[in-house]
Amino acid sequence: MQKAAKSAAKAPANWKETIERIIKMRKAKTAPVDTKSPGKLADRKEDADVANYQTLVALMLSPQTRDEATAVAMDKLKEHGLTPKSMQEIAETDLAALIHNVSFYRNKAKYIKKTTDIIADKYKGKVPDTLKSLLALPGVGKKIAHLTLQICYKKCEGIAVDTHVHRISNRLGWVKSRKPEETEAQLEKWLPKTWWEKVNVLLVGFGQEICRPIGPKCGECEALEFCPFGQENIKKPSAAERRRANKRTHSKVRGSASEPSKARSSPASDI
Ligand code: SF4
Repeated sequence: MQKAAKSAAKAPANWKETIERIIKMRKAKTAPVDTKSPGKLADRKEDADVANYQTLVALMLSPQTRDEATAVAMDKLKEHGLTPKSMQEIAETDLAALIHNVSFYRNKAKYIKKTTDIIADKYKGKVPDTLKSLLALPGVGKKIAHLTLQICYKKCEGIAVDTHVHRISNRLGWVKSRKPEETEAQLEKWLPKTWWEKVNVLLVGFGQEICRPIGPKCGECEALEFCPFGQENIKKPSAAERRRANKRTHSKVRGSASEPSKARSSPASDI
């Protein structure tokens, strides 16, 4: 059953203008998520059940991993054969070796094996299509479950919040939260449901290119006017300015450290 949008919380001022400006920035430059997101990595020539299974595997590989690296691991898996049957047959160590370029690859191999057994045995090779049943699979959290439902079954039951959505929503002042789950709950209280699916890919690409985790490009961001974090951030010296200031401090320190020896060599110092 579709979750009803919660309307209790007041939407932050200017959220629509902010989204419009982010859309404009996203249109000006593609991001890795636009071509290599886990949702684009399944072999669509496979039958629907296998393609859905491949999408789920891609999503399970993706946490804490760049989209480009997930795509490389998926290529290796598809070359090997990526079906529930082939993943049941492969040894966990061999699977880990195939996906060793993604982070936490040993854990991910273990979870893929366990989840594959459940999909093969309990669901006859079909990825389950409810939030509850997806969340019961090992290695599948809220973000993966929401994206699986959206990509495989065109069902949107919540906002898929990853590190980009979490970070940017906090920077913009849309939420005040410490964990992605809290961000999801707070966003769903005011963001109209028509945006729930779109906001993930919008903010992920924005986070990959402009509102980066480290060194966000606030100076060139068209949403700066509406962003409390950005307003503060541009007042701080840039990394280059900090390096120049450090250099100046070090050369001053070196200069003053050399003064005693100069003094020692000065005839006047002997007095
Ligand atoms: Fe991100 Fe800076 Fe833009 Fe704010 S102003 S959304 S922190 S890039």
